[in-house]
Amino acid sequence: MTRPHALPPELSRRDALRFLGLAGLATGLAPSYLAAAAPSAPPALSGGQPGHYRFRIAAFEAVALSDGGMAPGVSSSLYRNATTDDAMRATLREAFVPDDLVRLPFSMLLVRTASDLVLVDTGCGATFGNSGGWLAANLRAVGVSPEHITAVFLTHAHFDHCGGLLDASGKQPAFPRARHFISRREYDFWTGETPDLSGTFFDDGGRRGMIEGARAALTPLASRWEFVAEGDRPVPGFEVIDLPGHTPGQIGLLIGEGADRMLHIADVAHHHVLSFAHPEWSILSDTQPALAVATRQRVFARAATERLRLFGAHLPFPALGHARAVGDRYEYVIEPWVTL
Ligand SMILES: [Zn+2]
Repeated sequence: MTRPHALPPELSRRDALRFLGLAGLATGLAPSYLAAAAPSAPPALSGGQPGHYRFRIAAFEAVALSDGGMAPGVSSSLYRNATTDDAMRATLREAFVPDDLVRLPFSMLLVRTASDLVLVDTGCGATFGNSGGWLAANLRAVGVSPEHITAVFLTHAHFDHCGGLLDASGKQPAFPRARHFISRREYDFWTGETPDLSGTFFDDGGRRGMIEGARAALTPLASRWEFVAEGDRPVPGFEVIDLPGHTPGQIGLLIGEGADRMLHIADVAHHHVLSFAHPEWSILSDTQPALAVATRQRVFARAATERLRLFGAHLPFPALGHARAVGDRYEYVIEPWVTL
């Protein structure tokens, strides 16, 4: 059987160049079509990066949706237990990624089941300028309007996850027909007595901002929230799991049925290199750093053992991959991009 683009065997150089459409080079002369090419610069490229990526979770259709992202510089103040900036840079270089910034993409997840259109997290909304809030446009790009969404899960109430819960009025739900799910521990933490953020690296102003942002997003929907806990399946094919530490009531989701389930790990990992190579490093926004580390170790160990496919809000877009155990550390294995 002949492969359509295989080079025939035993070609002379002239034949090979002719085969490649470069016959003129065989005689040292530029082919006429090259001479006719305009001497001006090639056209500017347009189109940006795609912000949506379709894939399947067994019988479910799914789409990763970019909401933007941020890229802080490399500093050990980003991570507790990261001894020095140099240690961070060395870890990044070893993984062949730039050692001068830490990229944090924001990725939301849309899943279409037989009965539901489920959105996991809502992005920054208007809270992060042009660097966030891309979710709405990316939903439109895949043919979904806010009214189509039947369920919204909020993994936790940080601005890059809850900022898109409300419409432009700041009072009404952005997804008006959706049931809204959050863990009770998460809701109570942010809306109850002053939340204890002493475990974070933020100063008083930063802590106040986190609290005000969470309350502004959560409280207008007070009457709509449905509280979920570990093991609940409020939507068929979506099982809630506890992921405490980053925030007290952070949840993740096991999505799908049977052996092909995927684990949405929310903010268990903030970086595909640093979080996996150093799961003991806790990021500056962790509310309970030691618990966040323990949760990460537990989730990575399970994911590696069970070969669970992962979706992480801050993993490289489209946020899909696996955790591989390497000694007492882990490696993130990016799932290859495929065209459906
Ligand atoms: Zn986050």
